[in-house]
Amino acid sequence: MRISFYGAARTVTGSSFMIEDSEKDFGKFLVDAGMFQGAMERRNYRPLPYDASSVEAVIITHAHLDHVGLLPKLVREGFCGTIISTQATKEISWYMLQDSAKVQEEEVKSEGKRRKRRGLEPVKPLYTIEDVEDCFDLDWEIKKYGEEFQLGGFSVKFRNSGHVLGSACVEIDGIDGIASLAISSDLGEPRRLIIRDPEFPEAEAVVIESTYGDRNHRTPEESIEELKNVLWDTYERGGNVIIPSFALERTQEVLYALHLLYRRGEFPDFQVFLDSPLAIDITEIFLKHPELYDEEARKEFQKGNPFSVPGMRMTRSVEDSKEINEIEEHALIIAGSGMCNGGRVKHHLKHNLWREECSVVFVGYQAKGTLGRQIVDGAKFVRIYGEKVAVRARIHTINGFSAHAGKDFLLRWVMESGARKAFVVHGEFETSQKFAAELRKQGIEAIIPDWRQKVNF
Ligand SMILES: [Zn+2]
Repeated sequence: MRISFYGAARTVTGSSFMIEDSEKDFGKFLVDAGMFQGAMERRNYRPLPYDASSVEAVIITHAHLDHVGLLPKLVREGFCGTIISTQATKEISWYMLQDSAKVQEEEVKSEGKRRKRRGLEPVKPLYTIEDVEDCFDLDWEIKKYGEEFQLGGFSVKFRNSGHVLGSACVEIDGIDGIASLAISSDLGEPRRLIIRDPEFPEAEAVVIESTYGDRNHRTPEESIEELKNVLWDTYERGGNVIIPSFALERTQEVLYALHLLYRRGEFPDFQVFLDSPLAIDITEIFLKHPELYDEEARKEFQKGNPFSVPGMRMTRSVEDSKEINEIEEHALIIAGSGMCNGGRVKHHLKHNLWREECSVVFVGYQAKGTLGRQIVDGAKFVRIYGEKVAVRARIHTINGFSAHAGKDFLLRWVMESGARKAFVVHGEFETSQKFAAELRKQGIEAIIPDWRQKVNF
């Protein structure tokens, strides 16, 4: 078997691995076609390092853009094979990719104006909504966790990775129940608020993510407590709370946490705004798939919508979103993007970041090169839409809502797989190095592959 690391090598974004039988020149397939984000964005525009039309299939492990975001580019460049994912991943990908295309078309429009002024050639978007629609016109096969299927001469199986709704790890080439290779994709911790716990594969070698390979998180219950304290504190100061949130999973976990606080009588009287059309659409998909929840979340679901508190407003239109800007106190605004590098949250930050009575609560990973990372790293001033904005609001990071597992669970996942070899990916290089050192202490051969490296084994 040969694996080529076309993304997520020494970076947390752009996940994409090609799997092929090194003896054959047909039957190769990709696990993920992820987009590079933050400082690595320019890589998305490079030509693909392979002929897209020669790829037989693309497995999508979950609907985050750093795993599915380059699928339309692949299709645009000639991929016409099969796409394989779980049902929830397909449904969520539809909204994630449409939103991504929209963002890119808008960016190109504003960039185009700048270039025109300088007399430069216009730029083209990476892909358009039509390219996204083309992805969904292709043969898209739905697989369940544990269902075995054949691909490129290998047998392949999904297992629940406990990361986001519908997310999967991939086991490849199983003989007697032990896979040659298991690809973790992104792993979540057990005891998450909504979805079921991750499963453990058995494998000779693993590709393991290392986003948080050097630290552990608090539990969701501790995080709900932290969130409660921030809410009451900001409520008493008479400010607003901004939660930059990823539309998939994090938003629903935050809403679920607010719902639990409300039911316990511990929720201050904030008016909640879910100010993200994408997050609204995805929350609706969550409501369609209670079979993917753990027992506790299913019980809440049976009593009513677990992603809501009384009086909550879902603001789809730009006008409704702008109206929120007039509210000076007791608004709790959940808006994307999660790393503040785009989306409506930038407007809310512009209106609230300079006010010391307000709070900003980060609930997810902030990649290098993003506005979110600057704020988390303690910048005194940031630039938002060309304006210098002082950071005076209280900045909080609550990491127990993270969709990624912490160090101890990542280590446990590798150990329980029984693998003797681990390719450490999907982490900032220093973090991957620390995690690889932990694996070596356990007698595992840990390799941090280079971008575009190919390994036969
Ligand atoms: Zn992910």
